[in-house]
Amino acid sequence: MEKKIVHVPSSTDLEELFREAHLAKHRAYCPYSKFRVGAALLTSTGKIYSGCNVENAAYPLTTCAERTAVVKAVSEGEMSFTTIAITSDVEIGYSGPCGACRQILAEFDLDLDVYLINPKNEMKMYKLRELLPIAFTPRDLQKPRAAHDIID
Ligand SMILES: [Zn+2]
Repeated sequence: MEKKIVHVPSSTDLEELFREAHLAKHRAYCPYSKFRVGAALLTSTGKIYSGCNVENAAYPLTTCAERTAVVKAVSEGEMSFTTIAITSDVEIGYSGPCGACRQILAEFDLDLDVYLINPKNEMKMYKLRELLPIAFTPRDLQKPRAAHDIID
């Protein structure tokens, strides 16, 4: 069996990841909320894809920073991620990813390390599975399903 080589993030990788998240935040297009968010996603091959929130006058079309990063990575052929760093301008505490982004990330790996970082570069780390308990993932689509239920 071929052994999969996974890039284990070093502290230098994390510093670079945090820096990319902060830089992405500065590119946020958020004229309506004025709430800048930046994200940087580290692949298991050691590449970084960043993203910012991109708002739209038709508000529901807004895309979050985390989703921007995921879409950029996947569209470049990357689907294996070890870590994501997410930052905003919130000074006290941290901003977590919205529910939709937790689900988007769960598509790929519930063991993803999620670093929430603030402008002072203070951070808090969670496993994605902590942020999205009882997640619905591609595995759920593989589970056996009942042919009938009690109201059939
Ligand atoms: Zn989101």
